[in-house]
Amino acid sequence: MASAERLDPWGHVLIDYRKLFTVFGVKPMKDLLEKLRELGPVHRLYRRGIVFAHRDFDKILEALRKGEKVAIVTGFMPSGPFHFGHKMVADQIIYLQSLGARAFIVIADAEAYAVRGLPRNKIIEYTKIYVANLIALGVDPDKTTFYMQTSYEEPYYRLIQMASAKVTMAEMEAIYGDLEPGKIMAALTQVADILHPQLDEFGGYKYVIVPVGPDQDPHIRLTRDIAERLNSEVGTIKPAATYHRLMRGIDGSGKMSSSRPESYISLNDPIDIAVKKLRNAFTGGRATAEEQRRLGGEPEKCSIYELYLYHLADDELLSRTFLDCRAGRLLCGEDKLVAVKLLREFLEEHQKRFKEIYDTVEDYIRLPSF
Ligand code: SF4
Repeated sequence: MASAERLDPWGHVLIDYRKLFTVFGVKPMKDLLEKLRELGPVHRLYRRGIVFAHRDFDKILEALRKGEKVAIVTGFMPSGPFHFGHKMVADQIIYLQSLGARAFIVIADAEAYAVRGLPRNKIIEYTKIYVANLIALGVDPDKTTFYMQTSYEEPYYRLIQMASAKVTMAEMEAIYGDLEPGKIMAALTQVADILHPQLDEFGGYKYVIVPVGPDQDPHIRLTRDIAERLNSEVGTIKPAATYHRLMRGIDGSGKMSSSRPESYISLNDPIDIAVKKLRNAFTGGRATAEEQRRLGGEPEKCSIYELYLYHLADDELLSRTFLDCRAGRLLCGEDKLVAVKLLREFLEEHQKRFKEIYDTVEDYIRLPSF
């Protein structure tokens, strides 16, 4: 495979989503919306094409329909503040839990240490913040196993070791390009993260769904190969995956990322700071009000519109904003006032819940002792 056709799970750039279909063989989510509707109201992320592709998600929907056990596996790297890009993943967990799935949420502390070089005390601090945010948003702790990669159960570690025996260096390099030892460990640990709910010790969840950004597809492909190779020994089968668009940075460049503070609004930002960031956010507006009235704005390039699309707006506001913006009836200054109000209301409510949960967070996750 040419290097131009590799996806980089540790990179910061947005990739061309079309390649996922043409080169890597994923399927469009829109073909499954009818099946989703049979299970109840479809979440906006799926209706609005943000979760846009899948591998074997049809099998997961069938399992949910029959009331069979389904696990959703996802992870967060505790390497910076919890922002709206993370909230999008939380919303998918909450939705799939409402359809009957159990969540396994890994805090990728080993990866934060090896790949991002973060000190352990920082990692622990962020871990508590992440878990408290997830529960405050509505992740149901009674239907969730939160764990850290360095502080979990024995069979999980055995699975990492077994996975390492089922893949060659050449195969890993074909998927990831050049690899350092830390990244090899991180990739094999992710294999165990995704597959371990299938083991009897963790509940024997044969149907596993992993919501990811397209840049994480290398991990999915590696895991699906290894699942088949481990099948005769531990009974694992290929996990399913869904793919969501990554939120762009509010500064208008690259993806929203914890490692670029100018790119995100954190759910824990003091509200005045969050509002200031939103007021300065990149829009699809024209250079002058006159030009905007004449030509209309470009909501598809606008980070305010993207916040509406992913998080803040109901269907009515979303479509009105799009049409008024395109027709030049709405100016960015006016629209930002609406966005500020919605953001403020959301953050006030969320931060109140976050505060209540934060002090009890160690009831939900076992922190490592070092
Ligand atoms: S009017 Fe609103 S949606 Fe349109 S470009 Fe300006 S901020 Fe974005």
